[in-house]
Amino acid sequence: MSRPTLLPTTGTSDARTSAKVGFVSLGCPKALVDSERILSSLRADGYDLVGGYDEADLVVVNTCGFITPAVEESLDAIGEALRENGRVVVTGCLGERPETILARHPQVLSVTGQADVEGVMAAVRDALPLERSPFTTLLPTASSRGSTATPVRLTPRHYAYLKIAEGCDHRCSFCIIPKLRGLQASRPAADLLFEARRLIATGTKELLLIAQDSSAYGNDLRHATSEFDGRQVRAHLVDLVSEMAEFGAWLRLHYVYPYPHVTRLVELMAAGRLLPYLDVPQQHASETVLRAMRRPGGARSHLDTIRTWRSIRPDIALRSTFIVGFPGETEEDFQALLDFLAEARLDRVGAFTYSEVPEADANLLPGLVAEEVKAERLARLMALQARISREKLAAKVGTEIEALVDDYGDLPGEVVARSHGDAPDIDGAVIAMTDGTVKIGDVVRVRVESSDDHDLYGSVGAVVPWRPAVPQW
Ligand code: SF4
Repeated sequence: MSRPTLLPTTGTSDARTSAKVGFVSLGCPKALVDSERILSSLRADGYDLVGGYDEADLVVVNTCGFITPAVEESLDAIGEALRENGRVVVTGCLGERPETILARHPQVLSVTGQADVEGVMAAVRDALPLERSPFTTLLPTASSRGSTATPVRLTPRHYAYLKIAEGCDHRCSFCIIPKLRGLQASRPAADLLFEARRLIATGTKELLLIAQDSSAYGNDLRHATSEFDGRQVRAHLVDLVSEMAEFGAWLRLHYVYPYPHVTRLVELMAAGRLLPYLDVPQQHASETVLRAMRRPGGARSHLDTIRTWRSIRPDIALRSTFIVGFPGETEEDFQALLDFLAEARLDRVGAFTYSEVPEADANLLPGLVAEEVKAERLARLMALQARISREKLAAKVGTEIEALVDDYGDLPGEVVARSHGDAPDIDGAVIAMTDGTVKIGDVVRVRVESSDDHDLYGSVGAVVPWRPAVPQW
């Protein structure tokens, strides 16, 4: 593979007028948003973004460092970038532990932590100085209020993640995010509303609100107001979502704790203001395991909350994630989780076997569960949930649903779409035949004709006109 060719320099400075940067983005949607911010800043600075190691003068790797397999994947990605290109700047979650990176890859140019856009920019400017143009340096940044600059997006044009807060105030024993990212820091409501409106004006049809705990949004700001379109909006999830719903796009909430005020969000769903979908990571149902995880609640309180939500919006799609084989989990605890799932009949479930996170407090807990026991429990859980999912999806056969088209399918005229109940990448799909005129990003009405464990199948009846309450640019 070719090493980067240095561009000609001018005068006595090492600065050049253009340089090419490659980018590798790993991790969850929250890391994806950080990648988008870094890429937007690189482009605003005048760097060209390229898709291949060969073309790049330097590669930025945004890492994930949450669980051991993610650490290994990140270290492998850095190694590949070093082999293929040679000049590598590392950032992201794993960057919070530079000693781990430098022990394996001492030749990286710099290491910065998560969401440290300025740190990455400083490292890139240092390694690849650019002559600053008096014109580009006067451009507003993409995050400026009312800015029309288009930031770089790593999602398709028709949906976007909007990170409403960084950090986390909880102290789950298996997690080091609060150590890595610090206490929660929310963005002012007005900033988020400006960004949401700009995204919708430029073609976004679905906004996915994310944070480590979205329902705690604004606590750190003491719910202070900020001015949007001449009125004051409180930094509180209910107020933020109520305002954002006015824009007329699909709004989806992820990573929600079941605080009492979430019921008010479900009332907004009942009023058709936001998608009837809640992603509520519960991690377990046994109170013993939840206390060891330093998490609240238990099967009874989870079930009561779910009953309340369903009494308000019966077809709400509920997603949750669970950890199987946490230290000290007995067969009885695991059975409590299965019993909970059988009664709760959640729509979507993600489950993982427990895996140590370096420096997490849970590493000190006794009662490690053998790997084969973890795997066997995970298989039982997934078999139960597959049956529940199959039954719930079969009940939709014969109905008509709205879906947003993400992609074209394998067959001529086939599209892969998502209903109100499906988030990108983590949930199921709606696979539908069309007359060939449907495009990616269209909202369509689908007649559901069949189903399996995770997906729905049908045919498109019509394209739904898209009329957001935001003028399109
Ligand atoms: S809520 Fe718990 S699992 Fe989620 S980021 Fe905070 S500490 Fe980690």
